[in-house]
Amino acid sequence: MKKHNFSAGPCILPQEVLKKASESVVDFNGLGLSLVEISHRSKEFVEVMETARALALELLGLEGKGYKALFLQGGASMEFLMIAYNLLETKAGYLNTGTWSDKSIKEAKLFGEVIEVGSSKDENFKYIPKGYAIPSGLDYLHLTSNNTIFGTQMKKFPTADAPLVCDMSSDIFSRQMDFTQFDLIYAGAQKNMGPAGTTLVVVKEDILGKVSRQIPSMLDYKVHIGKDSMFNTPAVFPVYVSMLTMQWLKDMGGIAAMEEINEKKSRLLYSEIDLSPVFQGYANKEDRSHMNATFNITDEKLKEEFDSMLKEAGINGLNGHRSVGGYRASMYNALSLESVGVLVDVMSEMERKG
Ligand SMILES: *Cc1c(COP(=O)(O)O)cnc(C)c1O
Repeated sequence: MKKHNFSAGPCILPQEVLKKASESVVDFNGLGLSLVEISHRSKEFVEVMETARALALELLGLEGKGYKALFLQGGASMEFLMIAYNLLETKAGYLNTGTWSDKSIKEAKLFGEVIEVGSSKDENFKYIPKGYAIPSGLDYLHLTSNNTIFGTQMKKFPTADAPLVCDMSSDIFSRQMDFTQFDLIYAGAQKNMGPAGTTLVVVKEDILGKVSRQIPSMLDYKVHIGKDSMFNTPAVFPVYVSMLTMQWLKDMGGIAAMEEINEKKSRLLYSEIDLSPVFQGYANKEDRSHMNATFNITDEKLKEEFDSMLKEAGINGLNGHRSVGGYRASMYNALSLESVGVLVDVMSEMERKG
């Protein structure tokens, strides 16, 4: 039986993408060769890379606006340090909204001064800080648009007289916004785009080349741009699957269509969480995420029964992150409204029993 997959990451991908991807492993586009056994310099793979890079810019509405898209390795965690390596000369601002921002701050401190412009650590990252002051003269301001672990999401983004850098690992391509407000966007593939192994970086070229330090080639965005994201062997399979997912997204109607479905899904789940006395949401209402919904069961005695009901319904990946506990339902782009319906049915069944 196919499961309803609420896993936080690596996570659900569209069935048709997985099917096409699995075929490519045996015979890529009728070449009589596997995608993973041909040269990354072959015409066929170069086309995959170029299509993936173009689709990323197209979906974000950033074509012809001075941005370049790269598919790098090392995960979003590698970007934590590459960003500082490439952009941090004296001081940078960071908004601390959870585990991932915390980790990016730690890396940046190796390269210069970090100013935490705001933090919600005092309440275990239940909310998004607001009304904080942003000092002038920053090399950049770093934000995390969606906090995968705590289930909060930024609804508004600050303006600063410095380049805006944003970790969009867990909500890229899920909602509309003006992406030109950002100068660097990055996202590990495994949350909303493809298999683990590649990271999308979209960077405005004119913010680069301003630090005085020497940058090792593999960590230098300019080097990767100069080589069209092929400085060394890219993660061919993850890039291909990401390309297929972006094509799927475009065929679905792009980010606008996705946003509509995502809002329906989260509305359905949050209304159950809000109405039911058996469940309690974790994140502050105004800040909660459309992607990752965090909640607890109010009576721990019901947990065992709820867990077995989830299992029976074929629901996978609902356990909360160890730093929050409880439950977390991740509703990425490929998760259907129907799957959320199945979860909500189990929750209301629990309510009747509880
Ligand atoms: C998962 C995640 C990361 C870490 O990604 P890796 O690819 O494992 O390094 C960073 N930021 C956010 C917001 C995430 O959700």
